[in-house]
Amino acid sequence: MSRLQRLALFDLDNTLVDRVSGFRLWALEFCRTHGLEPAEAEWMVEADGDGLVPKETFFAQVRERFSLADSVEELWARYRRRHSALIPACRGALAGLAQLRHAGWKVGLVTNGFADVQLRTIISSGVAEHVDGWAISEAEGVRKPERQLFEIAAERCGMTLAAGGWMVGDSRVADIGGGQAAGLRTAWIDRGRLWPDEVGKPDHIVADAAEAVALILAQLPA
Ligand SMILES: [Mg+2]
Repeated sequence: MSRLQRLALFDLDNTLVDRVSGFRLWALEFCRTHGLEPAEAEWMVEADGDGLVPKETFFAQVRERFSLADSVEELWARYRRRHSALIPACRGALAGLAQLRHAGWKVGLVTNGFADVQLRTIISSGVAEHVDGWAISEAEGVRKPERQLFEIAAERCGMTLAAGGWMVGDSRVADIGGGQAAGLRTAWIDRGRLWPDEVGKPDHIVADAAEAVALILAQLPA
């Protein structure tokens, strides 16, 4: 195997931070403050579609289901301020990043999302202290899987994509497809899912970021 430079890029949501848990905490809090049954939090988790349902759509549904007087914009604004503060780092993820950097790796973050939300998540979860740089799609005007966002993250780490590296994430298209197109080796966090076919298979399929870190370190000993 040719020797790769020590650059490891990571996705944020459900890779380094447990967005699902944070969303559930937010939904439970929302139910409490609006006098709703706690069970409605699970309906909200479903309706959120793993964060992929547009928030205008989501909050329009929430407003209608619970007959709320607040506008979609007000509900969304409060959510933007609060949700990110409730998202914890994934178990073992921060320790893994620390291990990588200790072994001389540069660690970067490549994430699709709103600049204010992602930045708050990066800081409040503790991820900020464990990475060398990040690229957030809204702030840069380009989204994964486009190569440019990976390139920006690499540059923020003082590197380029030319000498390769790794991309770790849970999205098949944005993280794995994008990482491959950017010339990176890839590790897919399966979250209990199966890779659907032989096409575009990642180099590795792992349970979480900590396992990806162990693999990366094992393949390129310090
Ligand atoms: Mg993700």
